[in-house]
Amino acid sequence: MKCSQGENFTKGELQRFGNIELSPSAGILNYGQGLFEGLKAYRKHDGKILLFRPEENALRLRMGAERMCMPSPTVEQFVEAVKVTVLANKRWIPPPGKGSLYIRPLLMGSGAVLGLAPAPEYTFLIYVSPVGNYFKEGLAPINLIVETDMHRATPGGTGGVKTIGNYAAVLKAQSAAKAKGYSDVLYLDSVHKRYLEEVSSCNVFLVKGNVITTPAIKGTILPGITRKSILDVALSQGFQVEERSVSVDELLDADEVFCTGTAVVVSPVGSITYQGKRVTYGADGVGRVAQQLYSALTSLQMGISEDKMDWIVELK
Ligand code: PMP
Repeated sequence: MKCSQGENFTKGELQRFGNIELSPSAGILNYGQGLFEGLKAYRKHDGKILLFRPEENALRLRMGAERMCMPSPTVEQFVEAVKVTVLANKRWIPPPGKGSLYIRPLLMGSGAVLGLAPAPEYTFLIYVSPVGNYFKEGLAPINLIVETDMHRATPGGTGGVKTIGNYAAVLKAQSAAKAKGYSDVLYLDSVHKRYLEEVSSCNVFLVKGNVITTPAIKGTILPGITRKSILDVALSQGFQVEERSVSVDELLDADEVFCTGTAVVVSPVGSITYQGKRVTYGADGVGRVAQQLYSALTSLQMGISEDKMDWIVELK
């Protein structure tokens, strides 16, 4: 789908996957006008194809587009385009339990612009790829390092939207962490350098007794759709949930730590290293609460348990 600045997207068309042509002065290439989304389609035992809350991705893209001076498809256009793309690629969806089809919507300033300004034209496209289950043999803990020098976002910046530049900003800290054997980086806020933000592509949660706490959404962390869903699932299972500022010191005292995101769903954290000190969680790093919430959400997404929250969109 294409449209000019100030206009609305009109109906798009299916195209075979391949390279796309862009002007060297396209807005996305020069001024980072790019936003993306990520969601999954699962195949159910009865052959139906399931999407998980696709309208939430549409709303997040629209919020990001507003921040990035870009036009965006309507929620209906977005969801319809996702459905059409998934159905056209049905054969690539793994069998039940074997993985999912990862769906990547991408909105970009595709028009040419030389001086700093929003691009004159925009393209919205969706591509897909089959992916295996993130955890193949049960949940495995990840090991994080708290980054104290580099930040992924600042107040008033673009950290709260899914724009491509946020990911460029984390590559250096993430590569350094991986080179030292950590799974990923846990970022702190850039003002006090004390409050937890998120991991490179996941939101973070702490468990203490019956209370599940996660950093509040204040514009510097991505409002994860898995985060929002886990908070509701946790409430429905009798946990108390808190969204507030979470100091890095609280990590020392937590019973469990876990991360959430579309790719991992729920990922238990086995250890966190902060200023050279390593804190470990539980005997094997896979917390009871993380395990329980992972099972609840994945069975819902795969159509195994009843969709009481009305989160699933079924495709025939
Ligand atoms: N934070 C960041 C920076 C991310 O890239 C993602 C992945 N989209 C998340 C959190 C988790 O969001 P979601 O649950 O919507 O996948």
